[in-house]
Amino acid sequence: MPHVVTQACCGDASCVFACPVNCIHPTPEEPDFGTAEMLYIDPSTCVDCGACVTACPVGAIVPGHRITAGQERFAQVNAAHYDVDQFATDVRFPVDMTKRLPLAPVVTPAPLRAGPQDVAIVGSGPAAMYAADELLRLPKVTVTMYERLSAPFGLARYGVAPDHTATRTVMRLFDDIARHPRLRILVNSEIGRDLTLDELRAQHDAVFWAGGAPTDRPLRIPGVDAAGFSSATSVVGWYNGHPDFADRVFDLSSRRAVIIGNGNVALDVARILTSDPDELASTTIAPAALESLRHSKIREVVLVARRGPLQAAFTLPELIGLAAKSTVDLVVDPADLAGIDADPAEVTDREKLALLREIAARPHDEASGRPVIRFAFGLAPVEVLADAASHRVSGVRFERTTVAADGSASPTGETVDIDAGLVLSAIGYHGVAVPGLPFDEARGVIPNDAGRVMDGDSPVPGMYVTGWIKRGPTGFIGTNKTDSVQTVASWRADVEAAALAR
Ligand code: NAP
Repeated sequence: MPHVVTQACCGDASCVFACPVNCIHPTPEEPDFGTAEMLYIDPSTCVDCGACVTACPVGAIVPGHRITAGQERFAQVNAAHYDVDQFATDVRFPVDMTKRLPLAPVVTPAPLRAGPQDVAIVGSGPAAMYAADELLRLPKVTVTMYERLSAPFGLARYGVAPDHTATRTVMRLFDDIARHPRLRILVNSEIGRDLTLDELRAQHDAVFWAGGAPTDRPLRIPGVDAAGFSSATSVVGWYNGHPDFADRVFDLSSRRAVIIGNGNVALDVARILTSDPDELASTTIAPAALESLRHSKIREVVLVARRGPLQAAFTLPELIGLAAKSTVDLVVDPADLAGIDADPAEVTDREKLALLREIAARPHDEASGRPVIRFAFGLAPVEVLADAASHRVSGVRFERTTVAADGSASPTGETVDIDAGLVLSAIGYHGVAVPGLPFDEARGVIPNDAGRVMDGDSPVPGMYVTGWIKRGPTGFIGTNKTDSVQTVASWRADVEAAALAR
């Protein structure tokens, strides 16, 4: 049986280049690479060699015969991407191999046409590590990485849910990169506190800013100052032992929590809040968080989206993973799916909708005692409600929306209150300005042209960006590889142009 890409797919495309028959798509050169929720193996051309398994940094690829219970759907999803029936002996819609190269092109970098280069990278998360890896392929380059915290790897360490053990293994790859003799990682080094940006720029030939998006997109509605309201990302930091969040206390004493937004962060937090603490005990979860979760009274988490199921921000692999858990009941109101007639053209959306329909049809037994994750759609938050005396959250007021064919939501004027003792906003991360550099406040990014920091129409000499501070808080760990490769290519072109001009 052919190999199958499963939930942990990080999208760094290492598998694409390892595959001897170019059966893993989209490749970084293909137009849908930037928007794909995962990569897919074409079952009709996979030769079952296993080269991709070795290359994958997160153990996301499994031989078809080793698929575990709950992963079956991934075989279907891989096949569906190519319009191939995985169960048929012949291919239903033969894939036009003439449009594919026999091998994904692996480009070995030509020697740098310039003198030795000393590059600083600020941050040590995935984008920083992939940038270092790409830079260090050039023998004349040395890299110094500056990390504010006492441990490297940023969101790979502090952002990935502890029960996503496969995804967390990407840190092994980063450990390998970190051992490179021409890379120094200086931990507990904060630019702006220990060294100014000007000093840093004076000490190195170039600076790559890879500081990520360390804050939350603000939810601008009344009531967010009430006790018991917080951001989902601070819960993520808390359960992962991030030093800035490890001491936070979350009130888990009520029966229901509401999470505003339904991206993968919302899904992660909902899953952890409803997991059996004994299951979590074998993960990397922070001990203090585990202890609090052991006393948690939360039995239901409601994930509330302002738009409809077709616009859901969570990804299909994450929904498949969650739906396969037998320890939590998922609830989708069939009424939320009723108005959707035509099946979406895009395979991922089609599969997502099919799975939501399946979940909506599942019988839900309130008496089972299992915790519940409830998906609510078409509700835009208007106010966080609080008890007048204690100023503690008591719920959220939403306004029902209608969603147009183009995916935009319009308020209807009808309000709906959902009671909750814990309210979390999971509406996305946001970048912060770096003193001395231009900043696009609305998008939370440093303006750039393919990674070159831009001040209006002019590049800021020797300053580059990569990762979330470059493109905004989207994509997966591996998305940062192609992003960083692009920034390194821009840097290289500048360095060689300057050397030529001398
Ligand atoms: P996200 O995917 O951008 O989702 C944000 C959610 O907030 C959306 O549902 C969005 O709805 C909603 N939202 C935004 N502004 C809102 C407002 N003012 N009021 C109500 N709702 C609002 O953000 P995220 O969950 O933080 O994830 C960030 C990135 O990290 C994503 O690319 C995600 O896939 C990735 N990530 C991946 C994993 C994983 O693979 N396991 C885990 C965590 C994060 P609209 O669509 O209507 O704007």
